Amino acid sequence: TRRPYIVGNWKMHGTRAMLSEARAIDRAAQRHMKVEVALAPPFTLIHPIHREAEQISVGAQDCHHAEGGAHTGDISAAMVADAGAKFVILGHSERREAHGESDSLVRAKAGAALAAGLRIIMCCGESAKTRDSGRAVAFVKKQLKGSLPSAEEVNGDIAERITVAYEPIWAIGTGTAATVEDIAQMHAEIRGLLVELYGEEQGGAVRILYGGSVKPDNAAEIFAVPDVGGALVGGASLTADSFMGIALAA
Ligand code: 13P
Repeated sequence: TRRPYIVGNWKMHGTRAMLSEARAIDRAAQRHMKVEVALAPPFTLIHPIHREAEQISVGAQDCHHAEGGAHTGDISAAMVADAGAKFVILGHSERREAHGESDSLVRAKAGAALAAGLRIIMCCGESAKTRDSGRAVAFVKKQLKGSLPSAEEVNGDIAERITVAYEPIWAIGTGTAATVEDIAQMHAEIRGLLVELYGEEQGGAVRILYGGSVKPDNAAEIFAVPDVGGALVGGASLTADSFMGIALAA
């Protein structure tokens, strides 16, 4: 089985003043090699962090689906790879909502990322309204089916290239994570879908991260849930203390 994967999503936080925090995270990660630690800073910090990092890998929070062209303000997968990114987070609910990203667009981005040699962290997750209506599992499975690349498109070690992150929207940035029961149920459903899509061996080995108000004090109980392969961390990844507190619990 793969090492626990702890990924920090800095979202739209971080100028060069934050490089010292990334350095501290990298140093701590060197002492905890049984955990795979990664950071997804804003585009502007990918290269500066990559240049200094000895242990952690650096990724992007998005990329465009085209190889290049007249797309003012956009960044291609090859560009983030050139800056030192090894992976890209795709389909985050904040992009699906604020930028109207559809499943098919997210899937196109996944194809572009794979073609550029990047690993993918594919996000999924339902709103509070969908959960209250009892349709959370059906919603998340449909979202993933529409967003994940086919086995043929991956064309390689699927469990190496692809990670899934389950991030219920109602748990993001609220301070209240999903319950271990809710996480266990959804991760089991996602595992089933991954096996269906990629087969027993590869689909069984893809790591499924949980995201949504993960903190040092709830990380251990979340990591103990079956089929939780790590965490995608927002707010608590902004300081080395809290982020590595989470990584230590894995
Ligand atoms: P928080 O950890 O701040 O809830 O954010 C989770 C998230 O959206 C990570 O991608």
